[in-house]
Amino acid sequence: MEHESGVLCKCPECGKTPSLADVPLENGSTHFKYFCGVHRACGEWHLTEERAAEDWNRRATYKHIDHNRTDEIVCPWCGLECCDSWELEDNFGEIEPQECEECGKMFSAHREVTVTYDTKKIEEELI
Ligand SMILES: [Zn+2]
Ligand SMILES: [Zn+2]
Repeated sequence: MEHESGVLCKCPECGKTPSLADVPLENGSTHFKYFCGVHRACGEWHLTEERAAEDWNRRATYKHIDHNRTDEIVCPWCGLECCDSWELEDNFGEIEPQECEECGKMFSAHREVTVTYDTKKIEEELI
């Protein structure tokens, strides 16, 4: 999901527009952080309001993506599922970095192959 710059998302939990917190630094500059006061508070401090806004929007739109131990390769950025993961070659399990078709971001992939064995009884022929 893309956001126009300058537009702040509302807190997904309480629906409030976040407020800007600032902390003056010893060197005279200031650190900024947006938060609603209750939720999604644990963001980094940023040197500009723009970066703080970007970071807030990223946190406010964060969704959990299952991308580990999946049957198909899943983009860890946007959650797009690749449908022919088996076609990608791997080198000792490491698959070349992929560019997501949906969001265009890069990610790496690792293939875990589990080897299992089946056995069958061989009956001795009784003559
Ligand atoms: Zn909130
Ligand atoms: Zn993606």
